[in-house]
Amino acid sequence: MASCESWTLESSELQAEIHPGCLLSSIPFQDEDIVKGEKGSKMTLIKASQQPQTPKKEKVLLTGGTGFVASHVLDSLTTNGHPVVVTVRSEEKGNRLLQSLSHFSASNQVQYAIVPDISTKNAFDPILHDHCFTYVIHTASPYQLSFADPVNDCLNPAIKGTTYLLDSIHRLCPSVTRVVITSSSAAILNPPNHRDVYDESSWSDVSWEQAMQPEHTYRASKKFAEQAAWSFLEEHNPRFTIATINNTYTFGPLSRSLANSAKFSSAEVNTSNRRIWDLIHGKWRNPDGSACIPSTAPVFTFVDVRDVADAHLAALTAPGQRYYIVGGFFSNYQIARIVDEEFKGVLGDDVLPDLKGQEDDFEEEKHWKFDVSRSEKELGIRYRGLRESVRDAVVSMLEFEKGTTFN
Ligand code: NDP
Repeated sequence: MASCESWTLESSELQAEIHPGCLLSSIPFQDEDIVKGEKGSKMTLIKASQQPQTPKKEKVLLTGGTGFVASHVLDSLTTNGHPVVVTVRSEEKGNRLLQSLSHFSASNQVQYAIVPDISTKNAFDPILHDHCFTYVIHTASPYQLSFADPVNDCLNPAIKGTTYLLDSIHRLCPSVTRVVITSSSAAILNPPNHRDVYDESSWSDVSWEQAMQPEHTYRASKKFAEQAAWSFLEEHNPRFTIATINNTYTFGPLSRSLANSAKFSSAEVNTSNRRIWDLIHGKWRNPDGSACIPSTAPVFTFVDVRDVADAHLAALTAPGQRYYIVGGFFSNYQIARIVDEEFKGVLGDDVLPDLKGQEDDFEEEKHWKFDVSRSEKELGIRYRGLRESVRDAVVSMLEFEKGTTFN
């Protein structure tokens, strides 16, 4: 098997393992000769002067392409001119994703590849054989509120999905310089022993035993997956570096790949936007119109998905470290208030709860604080507010239900 350590132009074994395009972009040539060819075809040396001179943006592998966060990362990447290969779990999902991009000029920059289960060893090998990537963004990971089988349904895909991907890149794709991993604030926060102020220096101390309890499984999966990624770097010293995006509860416009009226159903609304969906479908209102707003705890911080996407893009070239990504505080009461002010006329009188006499369960003076100055300085993120995020989430939900697409 090829290894990055032994990778040279002379190694015929490696020429067989590594896609020729990787040679093109990775070899520090002394003269103007470059290597060109397709996998399995004869390699020929031609002069650089014969090549088109237009500089191309670096190619990116994006995992979990149908997901909510990935949909916006894909927008950021294509807007910035990157060719992207997204992984999806089935051909049907891949076609749906491409269809949702079909009105955009960026659609010809996007291809999909099928990876049914990221917890399968070597699942990414064929893709890394067939393409030459400079960057990888790994968003795929199970995100639900409960799992029937914590280990197989959540922990394994999160942890093994991350380490197997890093291992495949390390073995097969020496052109990759940076892997950005979507971790979570769940890997940072340490309930119930909260810090006064959280930043990137903090780690959750959730244990493997706790991970077997449904309320801890997801947050444990994010902590162990991120730790596994940093350990991989220490143990294997690969050519690439990593950065992690530790975003908090994320709201905003739904995944573009849901923009297909024939297929769209409420079950497909991602976990973090589901409370907004419930609100605009009358679930926070009693039959008499009074409010039954669920408690906001345990998470009172949010971020807009477009800011999360921009953070991933900026992290491709920023210093390789953790980035805590938080836009501000929120509560379910505040979401209900915003939706009431912005959409009451649109949604009708029998959907939204009567907020008279309702109290906000967020108490800022008693709540821990967050420091996201690293993401502001190094990634250049200027965070959107709650109103914009909630408003645009609702607009996308209404458009998807009507079967129109959003731009
Ligand atoms: P989604 O559920 O929308 O996306 C998750 C993606 O991962 C989907 O494309 C899903 O594919 C894919 N996936 C899950 N399990 C597997 C598996 N075993 N094999 C292959 N693919 C798999 O969630 P989000 O977009 O919200 O989350 C994306 C990332 O962001 C996750 O890593 C999550 O932990 C992280 N995150 C999300 C936050 C949020 O509030 N949304 C907050 C902090 C972090 P399919 O849909 O086909 O099953």
